[in-house]
Amino acid sequence: MKNPGFSTMCAHLGDDPARFHGAPTPPIYQNSLFTQPDTESFFRRTELRPEIYDYTRVANPTTDVLETKLAALERTEACRAFGSGMAAVSAAILDAVRTGDHIVAVETSYGPTRQFLKAYLPQLGIETTFVQGADPSEFLEATRPNTRLYYLESPSSLVFHLQDLPAVCELARDRGIVTAIDNSWATPYFQNPTEFGVDLVIHSATKYLCGHSDVVAGVVMGNRERMQKLTVQEGFLLGGILDPFAAWLLLRGVRTLGVRMDRHQQSAGKVADFLEAHPRVARVYWPGLASHPQYELGRRLMRGNSGLLSVALKDGGREAACRVIDRLHYFGIGVSWGGFESLAIPMSFAEPEGRLWGARISVGLEDVDDLLADLEQALDS
Ligand SMILES: *Cc1c(COP(=O)(O)O)cnc(C)c1O
Repeated sequence: MKNPGFSTMCAHLGDDPARFHGAPTPPIYQNSLFTQPDTESFFRRTELRPEIYDYTRVANPTTDVLETKLAALERTEACRAFGSGMAAVSAAILDAVRTGDHIVAVETSYGPTRQFLKAYLPQLGIETTFVQGADPSEFLEATRPNTRLYYLESPSSLVFHLQDLPAVCELARDRGIVTAIDNSWATPYFQNPTEFGVDLVIHSATKYLCGHSDVVAGVVMGNRERMQKLTVQEGFLLGGILDPFAAWLLLRGVRTLGVRMDRHQQSAGKVADFLEAHPRVARVYWPGLASHPQYELGRRLMRGNSGLLSVALKDGGREAACRVIDRLHYFGIGVSWGGFESLAIPMSFAEPEGRLWGARISVGLEDVDDLLADLEQALDS
């Protein structure tokens, strides 16, 4: 049979119902340890892995199915699941650098990631230079002899800046620099960064991979050699593993990733078009809009666009933005994104005409006509 498509992999890859009495979903192995049949197996348990299990911080059969599936979806060889997106981000970064090294990172990357780079790593003697990142030459200019990591987030998740991944990876490869990307926004359904040469792919699995707003999780993916080192060092030693029940819930979410992303894209497109045409709106930030400054680059790198976007209003400042958000009926006011439910939070944007207030909107899986009617009444009030 030819290679299975994305949604077929979501449904079946890594699953083995015959192992579990025909159950199409694996059981939750909610146990911390695994006993061995005899002392000989006990002494040989490390060399017998992965045929035998030993301890859940090292490996767990439920989590294994999830990791196998995600590695295939992201077109990588291996995946390690962590207890949060930040556990995955910090593990990937710590794996790439050591004392005295230097990092070049995208300035619009996720806030706590920036904080980790800016405030935590200097304690270990690791410095970071932040770049806007639209032009690959910015990475080159910021590179020092001790630069070991380019940290990317494309698109970034507030104003949706993109980086030219093939060009940045080429610069890195020539200099022996590791590349890591936060791919949470695009998901493997729309973008596979390893195809452009990125070494490590990170997701806050809390967002689209889960999709049900009931799990906090993260994953790091890459080739077998890199992931073996990361799994043993940051995985086993820092120990921020994903709990088996959370892995099982995440697996449940991943099975519908393709259909959910299609719907998020379709609805977000309609919401973006509606907002862009509205007289109160100054700017809509979404890489799927032809007005996005990096629209063409987005089309080269991604097969589609997800459901998180931002909108800036022309006037009224913070108060007007908050009034609109408070009038929304279907959009919850809350952080995070990528779940079934629509969300909106107040946000401000630095634009040539000054600081504009608006919202970051996560377009959920509700009927889009309800969402459009809701936005219309809130904006027109
Ligand atoms: C939420 C988020 C993270 C962190 O993930 P947690 O699961 O909350 O720890 C990292 N990157 C991006 C882009 C995010 O939105």
